[in-house]
Amino acid sequence: MPRAKTKPRKAATPPPADAPPAKAPVAPAPSATASVETTAPLKVLFVASECAPFAKTGGLADVAGALPKALRARGIDVRVVMPLYAGMPWSELEVLDGSVSVPMWWGNAHARVRVGKLPGSDVPVYCLEYNRYFDRPYLYGTPAEGYPDNLERFTFLSRGSLEVCKALGFQPDVIHCNDWQTALVPVYVNTVEWGKPLHGAATIYSIHNLAYQGVFDGGGMFITGLGREHYNATEFEHFGALNVTKAALRHSTLLSTVSPTYAREIQTPEYGNGLDGLLAERRGDLAGILNGIDVDEWNPAADRHLPAAFDVENLRGKATCKAALQKEAGFAVRPDVPVFGIVGRLTPQKGFDVLAHALDRVLGWDVQIVLLGTGDDDAQRFFAYVDAHRGDRFRAWLRFDNGRAHRIEAGADFFLMPSRFEPCGLNQMYSLRYGTLPIVRATGGLVDTVSSYDETTAEGTGFVFADLHPEALANTIGWAVSTWFDRPRDIQTMRARAMRQDFSWGRAARQYEDLYHRAVKARRGH
Ligand code: ADP
Repeated sequence: MPRAKTKPRKAATPPPADAPPAKAPVAPAPSATASVETTAPLKVLFVASECAPFAKTGGLADVAGALPKALRARGIDVRVVMPLYAGMPWSELEVLDGSVSVPMWWGNAHARVRVGKLPGSDVPVYCLEYNRYFDRPYLYGTPAEGYPDNLERFTFLSRGSLEVCKALGFQPDVIHCNDWQTALVPVYVNTVEWGKPLHGAATIYSIHNLAYQGVFDGGGMFITGLGREHYNATEFEHFGALNVTKAALRHSTLLSTVSPTYAREIQTPEYGNGLDGLLAERRGDLAGILNGIDVDEWNPAADRHLPAAFDVENLRGKATCKAALQKEAGFAVRPDVPVFGIVGRLTPQKGFDVLAHALDRVLGWDVQIVLLGTGDDDAQRFFAYVDAHRGDRFRAWLRFDNGRAHRIEAGADFFLMPSRFEPCGLNQMYSLRYGTLPIVRATGGLVDTVSSYDETTAEGTGFVFADLHPEALANTIGWAVSTWFDRPRDIQTMRARAMRQDFSWGRAARQYEDLYHRAVKARRGH
């Protein structure tokens, strides 16, 4: 079987004329012998279906792009594996010699491996190149539906990530898996790798969003390459279907999710999406670790997307950003009117249907609202309609636009997140850092990051409501509006407090490192 070597060679295709000069070969990851430490650094394989800045549809990519860097800063030898999608900078990635051979149900898939680095770090990102599965316009499917062969595509990623380890001679202490696309990894470690070196690796399964579980027809079990005997009620079978997350929850050494509150919520029927029983059973193995944010990418003092920089000591730049946003939206440029920002996927999770019902009342007030999002057709149509009819104070941009997301965070005064559920949520943390007070529903990570305004003490960093109802949302927006006009000093106080919060990845990385050590201990005992 041809094996990939760690020695990179140049990309086979010549770079386009305007491409940056070929990069130096990827620095080898640190080895135990090169270190002066007495104990070898922890080795972690981080498997994810998306990773910023290479490919991103949501918060998972932000985590995969930032957490490994913070782990690396703690001395951990961490390496990322992901698919090579269309639209990634192929020619800038080094092609490794040879290929990996990934056992699939139909035979062996021979995949090239390209390697890049997380920007500003020496963390290698190994990209599995298999065009039949990943050279497509979308990561998971069209906006209307997932690709019909998603089980096969992510079986390939899961199995392929283990083959990458073997090809590199990398024996991880921990394999950190993320969401359903990687859920088969812990199962393979316990089954097809039985009695082999990788069987010694501890596995962590992180839930970024339990709403997406990887549910398929039970007849597809053969695609995983695992025997039919695994299609039982304690592993893959769940309410008559094949559920890969269920198998991961059973097979992983330890579990985690992205906020303490969500860790508690998913053990209840309201938030557990049918897996609450199993999660409650494993509650002692389930950690809630709040995500950090990429404080370099989201830094109002040095944000290349903004017309002006600002920080907590000097907010003049924020006023410039607000005026520019109002102009961009085609609104009257008025410093006195409160601007509300919304960025996110237009799905039921985010509570935009509730916002839709509250909007008529809210637009009766002297406010300006900008929305940036893509998603459900109905939601897009509705917001486009409001945009067309109330364009003086409501603008909907129905596309994905990272630069504009930054400009909204910077230019708005308030940020709306009426989420039905929110495992962690990143936007409210970006908002806090940009002095844009979040208005959030009390769920998941929103509870752990935003404290509600107290009118008697001016404590708080935002406005929190519990009842997922248009009335409650409109009332809370009204509360923010009245605070804006009647108690502007409290807004300033909260803004300064919000901007001083520390959501850097350092804290989260420390907690993950503890979790990894716990997992290694548990696995060795096992
Ligand atoms: P989720 O992962 O559930 O979508 P998060 O708040 O955790 O929600 O993260 C969403 C991320 O995706 C943020 O970085 C946000 O700025 C970004 N995002 C979502 N929709 C858009 C969009 N239409 N344009 C630009 N960025 C977007």
